[in-house]
Amino acid sequence: MPTTYAMTPKRRFLSGILGGRVDRPPVGSATSVATVEQMQIAGAFLPDAHLDGEKMARLAAAAHDVLGYDAIMPYFSVQAEAAALGCEVDWGDAENMPVERSHPWQDPEQVHIPDDFLEKPSIRAVLDAIRILRGRYGYHVAIVGKTMGPWTLSYHMHGVQDFLLETIADPPRVRGFLDRLKEVTVRFGLAQIAAGADVLCIADHATGDLVGPWTYRDFLLPCHQELTQRLGCPTVLHICGNTLDRLADICRSGFDCFHFDSKVDARDAVRAVDGRISLMGNVNNPEVLLHGTPERAAEQARQAIVAGVQVIGPECAVPLCTPLENLRAISRAAAEG
Ligand SMILES: [Zn+2]
Repeated sequence: MPTTYAMTPKRRFLSGILGGRVDRPPVGSATSVATVEQMQIAGAFLPDAHLDGEKMARLAAAAHDVLGYDAIMPYFSVQAEAAALGCEVDWGDAENMPVERSHPWQDPEQVHIPDDFLEKPSIRAVLDAIRILRGRYGYHVAIVGKTMGPWTLSYHMHGVQDFLLETIADPPRVRGFLDRLKEVTVRFGLAQIAAGADVLCIADHATGDLVGPWTYRDFLLPCHQELTQRLGCPTVLHICGNTLDRLADICRSGFDCFHFDSKVDARDAVRAVDGRISLMGNVNNPEVLLHGTPERAAEQARQAIVAGVQVIGPECAVPLCTPLENLRAISRAAAEG
């Protein structure tokens, strides 16, 4: 039911995450919306903004100042934890996101979180950015933190192929990695909450494009139930790709909101979750936001709104060359209701 008063972006976004009243559909993303055009406007460029809290904060704030979104999320890549845990990371450039160059751990016994983990440059930058954003925007705009879940950390630290093969060949090893690596998620997540994040996104890519629904249920669901309890703040789960076959299990995870991909039709997602979890998304990145027009982006945003998606935004981290006007079209569509 609509409210009769205008909400601040922060109240609107948080209410959407938690499935409450809103004056209009909130807009935002639990993953990066940074682009080259925003870097030029903010005067803060990747790759520097991956490792410098002030630059990270300035670039992230463009999501509100330039795009008109209701939330700011400063962690642009998916490699901050991996770099801090000893992965070699190529930090890319303004048009290319970072990639990891090594997978240092073969065995769960090797998992080790350094005592100074929160002081490592890639981690400290995110915490500094959240603290800065909290001071500048915290009264008005939702500040969203993000940390990788143990499934994605296993991809980075152990290697995607080995890890996925072991889900069949050696389940105890998979559980060993998840059990130890979830402590990374908790440590970084709690530090982001302490730094001032209102909401925490856990990105954990157990996607239907790579693994069957039983994988989520058997391996990851117990981890997610524990994580959401221990983190305690409003939480969003991000998994891109097709997740329709595991949405019922995701509803049991304890997350407040699920950030989903355009591979799942918005109406199917709303029907599948049946009010048990809020939904965020699901405007298509490659065809609509990167190569489409503002009209097409607005049309997809409206489809998500009409379907009943609570928070409207891109489906995943947007490509860095995405045109500004396509991203702005989402907030315009939402402002029209
Ligand atoms: Zn994604």
